[in-house]
Amino acid sequence: MQIIAVIGAGTMGNGIAHTFAQCGFKVQLIDINDVSLNKGLDTIAKNLDRMVIKEKITVAEKSQTLNNISTFIRLEEGVKNADLVVEAATENIDLKLKIFKQLDEICSDDTILSTNTSSISITQIAATTSRPNKVIGMHFMNPVPIMKLVEVIRGYSTSDDVTNSVMELSKSIGKIPVEVNDYPGFVANRILMPMLNESIETLYNGVAGVEEIDTVMKLGMAHPMGPLQLADFIGLDVCLSILNVMYDGFKNPKYAPCPLLVNMVRAGKLGVKSGEGFYDYSKSKKAEKVSAQFLK
Ligand code: NAD
Repeated sequence: MQIIAVIGAGTMGNGIAHTFAQCGFKVQLIDINDVSLNKGLDTIAKNLDRMVIKEKITVAEKSQTLNNISTFIRLEEGVKNADLVVEAATENIDLKLKIFKQLDEICSDDTILSTNTSSISITQIAATTSRPNKVIGMHFMNPVPIMKLVEVIRGYSTSDDVTNSVMELSKSIGKIPVEVNDYPGFVANRILMPMLNESIETLYNGVAGVEEIDTVMKLGMAHPMGPLQLADFIGLDVCLSILNVMYDGFKNPKYAPCPLLVNMVRAGKLGVKSGEGFYDYSKSKKAEKVSAQFLK
């Protein structure tokens, strides 16, 4: 494989483009407008600068990485000749189904179509194409250039050949791929989200406060970040949406989102991205505990 098309230049897309480009692949990065593409390229350049300062790469390697990336607004131009497409557009099922239908029409029969979705069924996405055997999940973790894991998700019809190619490709960009099957939440979110939800439930039940819960998990379980702060970083709306996918998918009350999480999302308290979640991010970069009383 030589040419990788990445759809979406946001948080994940720019990290995926960066990682492939740094490993020598030609990357065709696609977004809906120049503003999003330039923002993505700026982030990549800044992250590469940081690597240069830390002496992880040379200035020449930074330039080469940036030279390996070209940008596109029109999907049909951006995915032309691609050996692999990694779709990392906004998490919206209708949008993803539409993109995959278009990809199936535009891309050559040999092109593997992958998605970085956190929660949407790979099997459902694959079913909108005429090549469900060539559709697969490549679930990268944030921040992509740093995090080692790629959860490689096999849809119901994904072939062994396609899975093996994607596993090998992931290794070639310095990642550690893990093969999993396509059920709600896959593995990462199926285990992580109930833990975050239980932390919120613990707060909601008045067992302990925000900092106390995070401190127990940081110091007691050696987690680098407390679960409530992690939920703020992921985005409380994203956590809610993934829990709802698992709740609907398994019809099991153990995945029911905590009412406090539902209320906070309704109130627009989405975590870091909105300036406030379990912590206040509005005044300083350092998370400060929100003074509002969460306890019942
Ligand atoms: P984001 O909002 O930061 O970026 C999404 C980008 O997609 C935006 O730049 C948007 O303009 C672009 N986009 C929207 N419609 C498009 C279209 N039709 N064609 C091309 N580009 C389009 O979102 P993100 O956090 O990067 O998430 C992207 C995907 O990655 C989602 O499926 C999400 O579930 C998944 N994911 C996110 C994380 C995370 O921590 N943020 C982790 C793992 C997986």
